[in-house]
Amino acid sequence: MNNFHYERVTDVDTAVAAATGAGNSYLGGGTNLIDLWKYDLAHPEKLVDLNGIDELKEVTELPDGGLRLGALVTNNKTAYHPTVQERYPLLSRTILAGATPQIRNAATNGGNLLQRTRCYYFYDAASPCNKRVPGSGCPAREGHNRLHAILGHSEACIATMPSDMCVALAALEATVRVRGPQGERHIPFADFHRLPGEKPELDNTLGEDELILSIDLPARGFADHHTYLKLRDRHSYAFAVVSVALGYELDGEGKITTARIALGGVAHKPWRVPAAEELLVGQAPSEDQFARAADALLEGASGFKHNTFKIDLAHRAIIRAGAMAHDPSCQRPGAKPSL
Ligand SMILES: Cc1cc2nc3c(=O)[nH]c(=O)nc-3n(C[C@H](O)[C@H](O)[C@H](O)COP(=O)(O)OP(=O)(O)OC[C@H]3O[C@@H](n4cnc5c(N)ncnc54)[C@H](O)[C@@H]3O)c2cc1C
Repeated sequence: MNNFHYERVTDVDTAVAAATGAGNSYLGGGTNLIDLWKYDLAHPEKLVDLNGIDELKEVTELPDGGLRLGALVTNNKTAYHPTVQERYPLLSRTILAGATPQIRNAATNGGNLLQRTRCYYFYDAASPCNKRVPGSGCPAREGHNRLHAILGHSEACIATMPSDMCVALAALEATVRVRGPQGERHIPFADFHRLPGEKPELDNTLGEDELILSIDLPARGFADHHTYLKLRDRHSYAFAVVSVALGYELDGEGKITTARIALGGVAHKPWRVPAAEELLVGQAPSEDQFARAADALLEGASGFKHNTFKIDLAHRAIIRAGAMAHDPSCQRPGAKPSL
């Protein structure tokens, strides 16, 4: 029998005060936390249920032209929000590539950012895992590592971050607005998740009792040229083996002025290399140019027994995504990229 306290709160200050202290957890949609609990991997002493906080369930326009996505807006409501569909179709497409409609109806934006890895050894409470029990070892290095990292991994951990949504948020350069006992702060998305290093138990840079309030999108949404290409073992209901969120803007002569590429399924965080994106600036989109960017993005990649194929797969996926982004309408089933 696991005894725990449950508190349903209706405002942010009460939530932060209620969660302050070891062993307490916020509850969003519960689609990850409750699973972890059932697998004996999470043991909250107190659950602070956020679902009564109406102010975190809104999508609002920001004065700088951006869009604020409340932490408690569900993944589906976000994906189908008219402004997201019109101005941030990359984000909409990316969210809809994840999970199932039922899960997306429950899952919240805040919870999506904090979902834990899908490493088989992390989910097996009987197995050592440095992420779950620091210092116990990483059987994935020599074991089943097909879904594991090819970039940014460490001796201690080769797990990947499983979220699709986060790959688009990295490409869009979102900001995560959080509140904790010390007040409010804004974390650039690139600094939100972390590489494992020697502390793989830490997935992100959120403080212990900090609450995610919103995800703020900048005005630039790459609505004209974008794609999310998710390669996976099944067409639905599967995590990415490799994914690419890609967007760019063109000038009047058809040359790229700004480009963003983020990879999912390859590292402990969405993988971006701004220098690789810079290589595209001033160029007309072409297979050769995306291949150069892919070389730079994947520099230093190294795989393990069962996942080295991901290096080549990611390279090809970036080139393919570059072509798909040129004409997003080609992404309908059966349509061919125009590049
Ligand atoms: C079968 C299945 C398939 C899936 N497939 C995919 C997929 O293909 N792609 C994909 O991206 N995802 C997938 N998911 C994961 C799913 O997207 C996540 O479980 C979901 O986004 C988590 O959101 P939640 O609101 O349910 O989080 P919860 O389970 O409520 O919480 C997750 C964590 O976040 C914390 N938390 C929640 N809200 C806040 C907040 N506002 N501030 C601070 N902390 C908070 C909780 O304490 C907990 O630690 C799948 C899940 C399942 C069960």
